[in-house]
Amino acid sequence: MMNVEDIKPFADVDKAYLEVFDKDGTPKNDLAAYSQWVEGKILTKGRDRQIENTLGLLGEAGEVAEKLKKAIRDYSVFDKEATMKELGDVLFYVAALANFYGGSLQYVAEMNQRKLDDRQLRGVLSGNGDDR
Ligand SMILES: [Mg+2]
Repeated sequence: MMNVEDIKPFADVDKAYLEVFDKDGTPKNDLAAYSQWVEGKILTKGRDRQIENTLGLLGEAGEVAEKLKKAIRDYSVFDKEATMKELGDVLFYVAALANFYGGSLQYVAEMNQRKLDDRQLRGVLSGNGDDR
């Protein structure tokens, strides 16, 4: 049986780094450019977009979970690359929704960093409640 502990999440971290940054450390992409690119791929307009993007996010998050479930159920090798592709789909919908709500992926990322840094400083990184 495959144990979740057997999954090595950052085995190719150097490879991943090279795909995201140039040799001089310059990002090949940034969140603002990505958010703008996402807008060019949006097909559903108006209020329906909010619903479609939200359902898309949930669907893609489910696909991430499915990769792990199938590996456990079938005693098979966990497919990290396929999971990374699904995480990209999740990222797409996060950016789409951030754009829809008038923010950006950069704004969401910074807000999340501030929230978690604050929780860490206050010693409440673990626990319950959105506003702890
Ligand atoms: Mg997908």
